[in-house]
Amino acid sequence: MTRPLPAEPRKPLTKHQFAMLALRQEGKCGCGCGRKLDFQTPRAITDEHILALFEGGSNDLDNRALYVTDPCAKVKTAGEKPVQAKIRRRQGKTGQQKRLRERGHGSIPKPKVSGLSKDNRFYRKPEWPKGRKLASKGFER
Ligand SMILES: [Zn+2]
Repeated sequence: MTRPLPAEPRKPLTKHQFAMLALRQEGKCGCGCGRKLDFQTPRAITDEHILALFEGGSNDLDNRALYVTDPCAKVKTAGEKPVQAKIRRRQGKTGQQKRLRERGHGSIPKPKVSGLSKDNRFYRKPEWPKGRKLASKGFER
């Protein structure tokens, strides 16, 4: 398995780049919703990385777009959260593997995959424990 390259640090757009993008997008949101970019209100426009940096995207202008901050940029960023979390877990930065390592355990051994495991002819439903009733014992008074 190849590890993803470390993400490039985020670079802010220069004024020139910002203007280039605004022109390229004809003053409209980069997500394709057709909303007009609001150049008057502070923070109404967010410059986004089309392919996020953590997914290997670059800071090049080709990979940048101006989004209406709310909702477009927020929705895009929110959609990336689970992917980002998964990558972080894979890299062992968060999650079970990290906690185990901190407690001095090695990595969890992977279950052995036998020829049978994918063959559900041999799968049996777990049975209820025998000799036990599921009925309530009631309350003691
Ligand atoms: Zn949009």
